[in-house]
Amino acid sequence: ELRELNRMRSEPNRTRDGTEIEIYANAESREDVAEAHALGATGIGLYRTEFLFLQRMELPDEEEQFRAYRDVILGMSGRPVTIRTLDLGADKADRTGLALRDEPNPALGLRGVRLSLARTGLLETQLRAMLRASGYGPLRILLPMISSREEVRTVRAEMMRIARDLRSEGHEIADFVALGAMIEVPAAAIGLSSFIGGVDFLSIGTNDLIQYLLAADRNNEALGELYTVMHPAVLRLLRDAIRLANARNVPIAVCGEVAGDARFAPLLLALGLEQFSLHPTSLLEVRRTIRNCDLDRLRANAPALMRARDRNDIERWVDAQIGH
Ligand code: PEP
Ligand code: MG
Repeated sequence: ELRELNRMRSEPNRTRDGTEIEIYANAESREDVAEAHALGATGIGLYRTEFLFLQRMELPDEEEQFRAYRDVILGMSGRPVTIRTLDLGADKADRTGLALRDEPNPALGLRGVRLSLARTGLLETQLRAMLRASGYGPLRILLPMISSREEVRTVRAEMMRIARDLRSEGHEIADFVALGAMIEVPAAAIGLSSFIGGVDFLSIGTNDLIQYLLAADRNNEALGELYTVMHPAVLRLLRDAIRLANARNVPIAVCGEVAGDARFAPLLLALGLEQFSLHPTSLLEVRRTIRNCDLDRLRANAPALMRARDRNDIERWVDAQIGH
């Protein structure tokens, strides 16, 4: 098994019938980036910047952030790197005092891009650091918790202004830096057509999307099977978002835990997904599963999946695809 996995490292990510599937890595540390590189990830699909801000009292300044982002980009030697702006909120152990302390509903509070837009200087410092790092390799900037077109437009305007500033200060930055949105608030999925024209790429955060859609806390184990991707409403939302993005030629990935669970790879492929982003530890297993999938056949089975009425129907479909 280990030998087989080792061999697969250098093989392309293709389904059995030859469709190229991109497998990006999620990372939050130097080690993750090194592992992603060694395992042949297409790039970094989600670099969570929170770790830079946690477990400390002071905010990382522009220079510190710049060096961290540049190192990720250099670490991937030319493969695309997706860095997400801060997704901090009262739900994380923030000691910097950035986030509000005692929000009654942290998951529904001032987190993600909302916090970035609310705290003076936070977004600017982060964008300056990221854009400076863009001089070292292909960079994509990803925005968490987007719920409206206005948020994307505001960040894009800020990004363009900062790019001009940096150039006039003499910094070498990339001619093009992609700006993308996480789809993790149901409103962003349902209202995707209203802002898809304003983004360069999309990434579906199933961890939060499922939580918000099913009103089921992603960390509350008492909820048991209530928190699951195997719900008809979740599948419909995923299918519609992926379908729209594919029709508009906007790259779309899934970067939630679901993408790293090999069991669900056939399901995601059936829904039209062609980009996965997952923690390096599950990269080879998901790659192996994808290589055993017959995409034509899965997509022919998709209508049956979409007709599923409950978890049991979906689970049966999922189990029936093994080896297909
Ligand atoms: C998600 O919500 O699916 C996601 C990838 O982001 P995070 O887990 O950091 O909230
Ligand atoms: Mg999320």
